Amino acid sequence: MTGSTIEGRCRCERTRFRVSGAPLMTMACHCTGCRKMTASAFSLSSLFASEAFAVTEGEPAIGGLHGATRHFFCPHCMSWLFTRPEGLDDFVMVRAAMLDDAGTYRPFAETFTSEKLPWVSTPAVHSFERFPAPEAFPALLEDYARRAGP
Ligand SMILES: [Zn+2]
Ligand SMILES: [Zn+2]
Repeated sequence: MTGSTIEGRCRCERTRFRVSGAPLMTMACHCTGCRKMTASAFSLSSLFASEAFAVTEGEPAIGGLHGATRHFFCPHCMSWLFTRPEGLDDFVMVRAAMLDDAGTYRPFAETFTSEKLPWVSTPAVHSFERFPAPEAFPALLEDYARRAGP
């Protein structure tokens, strides 16, 4: 996957983006907010450096949280596309379900297990009761890179 460019698109395909290379980490979030925005049991995120991400068509609109953390949606079909997370300014959390190879982003870490639906389990190897502090990310990214291999 390293070195490749993968396309992402919303449900109506009016908004498109691309990511370059492999993600820095993959995650599932069980928080109530993610459940409501995905209308499902959890959200799937793939973390990319800002420079590895580009919107190529359309103009994503802010929805969900409008504060320090901002969620971006397609303004037509309202698909949730990506997040600019508070405290991680150089990163974008892309909704893995939007990417053309969505099946490859097996969640490595899961967050907000304190709010998880009781029947859900994921293959994540790191579980957090809430969202980990920004300081926790370097070690997580290192572990993800090590396990993902070259
Ligand atoms: Zn759309
Ligand atoms: Zn969440």
